[in-house]
Amino acid sequence: IPVDGDSPTIFDKIIKKEIPSTIVYEDDKVLAFRDISPQAPTHILVIPKVKDGLTGLSKAEERHVEILGRLLYVAKLVAKQEKLDDGYRVVINDGKNGCQSVYHIHVHVIGGRQMNWPPG
Ligand code: 5GP
Repeated sequence: IPVDGDSPTIFDKIIKKEIPSTIVYEDDKVLAFRDISPQAPTHILVIPKVKDGLTGLSKAEERHVEILGRLLYVAKLVAKQEKLDDGYRVVINDGKNGCQSVYHIHVHVIGGRQMNWPPG
């Protein structure tokens, strides 16, 4: 089973609403929903509805600049919506050493508790 590549992932099913998720934000380009295995009181994933080869940040090309910006902006919007006024963490895991497990780019928005740095 390839761990990288442009094959469909579980997130395609979430986008098509073929499997349920708790959606907290949606527009024509971006979907944000609660992580099924939250690592903090708030843990949201922000994803592009169209992957367009963007399996991970390391695959970014010039054509992805607009959606990359939008993902970060939506991360801010959902953090505000979740009232993470004391701060939060935004994470993009990439590849094996980054512990990426789903190869459809996603921004984690994690908050509601004190984070620590550096992460393990
Ligand atoms: P990664 O490890 O690739 O950075 O993050 C993938 C995230 O997707 C994990 O935090 C994992 O809990 C989450 N996830 C995997 N499958 C599902 C699912 O079916 N539904 C939801 N809501 N989250 C999922």
